[in-house]
Amino acid sequence: MIGTYKAVSDADLDFIRSVVAAERVFSGAEISEDYSHDEHSGDAHFPEVYVQVLNAEELSKLVEYANEQNIPVIPRGAGTGLVGGSVPIYGGMMIGLEKMNRILELDEENLTITVESGVLLMEVAAFVEAHGLFYPPDPGEKAATIGGNIATNAGGMRAVKYGVTRDFVRGLEVVLPSGEIVELGGKVVKNSSGYSLKDLMIGSEGTLGFITKAILKLVPLPKKSISLLIPFEDISSAISAVPEIRKSEVTPTAIEFMERDVILDAEEYLGKKFPDKSSEAYLILTYDGNSKEEIEQNFSGVAEICFARGGLDLLIVDTDERKEVVWKARGAFLEAIKGSTTKLDECDVVVPVNQVSTFIQYLYTLKEKHDIRIKSFGHAGDGNVHIFILRDDLNEAAWQEKLSAVFEDLYQKAIELKGKVSGEHGIGYAKVAYLMEEESEAVLNIMKAIKLAFDPKNIMNPGKIIR
Ligand SMILES: Cc1cc2nc3c(=O)[nH]c(=O)nc-3n(C[C@H](O)[C@H](O)[C@H](O)COP(=O)(O)OP(=O)(O)OC[C@H]3O[C@@H](n4cnc5c(N)ncnc54)[C@H](O)[C@@H]3O)c2cc1C
Repeated sequence: MIGTYKAVSDADLDFIRSVVAAERVFSGAEISEDYSHDEHSGDAHFPEVYVQVLNAEELSKLVEYANEQNIPVIPRGAGTGLVGGSVPIYGGMMIGLEKMNRILELDEENLTITVESGVLLMEVAAFVEAHGLFYPPDPGEKAATIGGNIATNAGGMRAVKYGVTRDFVRGLEVVLPSGEIVELGGKVVKNSSGYSLKDLMIGSEGTLGFITKAILKLVPLPKKSISLLIPFEDISSAISAVPEIRKSEVTPTAIEFMERDVILDAEEYLGKKFPDKSSEAYLILTYDGNSKEEIEQNFSGVAEICFARGGLDLLIVDTDERKEVVWKARGAFLEAIKGSTTKLDECDVVVPVNQVSTFIQYLYTLKEKHDIRIKSFGHAGDGNVHIFILRDDLNEAAWQEKLSAVFEDLYQKAIELKGKVSGEHGIGYAKVAYLMEEESEAVLNIMKAIKLAFDPKNIMNPGKIIR
């Protein structure tokens, strides 16, 4: 689907500066190295011009012009993506939304908040909590933008109870590749009014248009949350307890699994001691509610389930100090694993919850089969496993060869278990080949037709999701 694109010329820069103040337009050596990559470990690609916009009208003029001129445009949030989604692999005009960062309205009657898409997740969370309300989606990187979260349908740790970003998006304002500004969805709770274009935009990774504004659903803020740290003899017993825990009377907000070697990495990275590291594997469960008594009642049956499956102890994480240590460690796993090797690549496959154990056992066989270190942690409660393949001292050629062999095995197994290529990070450019392998020709043809319906000249973030 990739065509040939026009290089950005001086005349194009003049046009861009006629729309956007010159201090918000960067070209050539003025472009920071940050914009040549995201948090995926792929090659660097610089945009030809980087532009910061202040509103949908500026954006609309730039996109309409780029469409006429056949110049690629790439939406950029905070650049925390893990699959190269905002990396400009065909050059062109990268448009940053970080200055569109206003909270526009808190509607306490409809329980919604309306924000510009450059607002950070942590800003939304703190703002609504100060008003006794709660925005549950909780991906690990709190400095990502809401636009980026919506564009990747970010998940996170509270998905078990609350769902993912998609479940909290009521309405969107979008600038289409034509430059037209449209509103999709709204404050309404129900909506059966034709095809849900709002839902097509969610998870479209900047390939269908720019999200400029979002109406997000809120819920009342639970007054308290308590976590449980449960050591197990091995990872299989830990994970085998999960389906039963999910079936028990009250759904936890989070069910995470972790292994000792990842905990040790986090201790070294943070310089802080984890409350327990005597066991091979751990589950962390979190429950929320309105009082300590209510929550204790909610998790009362869980100890029994875990002990019956080889749980060795149950540590209650209820003091601020303990919560800080445990959740800071959990939040630092990715950086900590990065620090333990020279380079890594990651996959975030998702499998049905009852297949996680089979998938993890298979993962262990790959370490030996390919003679390579592999680490993992993830969202046991929703089947989303984060797997890290470590380069260590392999040379580039050997690394690339092993990496693709391991990925091939991993994705094949995920597909065999009726899983999906990505649970929450998206496809970007890094996982395109695997999506193409997973989906049938009929499905891929529909995806291509949708892309062409929105973006007939393929100027929006080309090279991402599908080829
Ligand atoms: C330490 C760490 C932990 C993480 N943990 C999680 C996790 O638990 N769960 C999870 O889901 N992700 C996680 N991520 C990945 C990342 O934070 C998410 O993918 C996030 O949603 C990206 O947001 P961003 O603002 O950084 O977007 P970017 O990286 O800038 O862009 C991501 C994609 O969205 C598109 N995009 C961005 N803004 C817009 C817009 N306004 N309109 C249209 N398209 C847009 C881009 O073109 C690109 O394709 C983690 C990342 C890190 C580094």
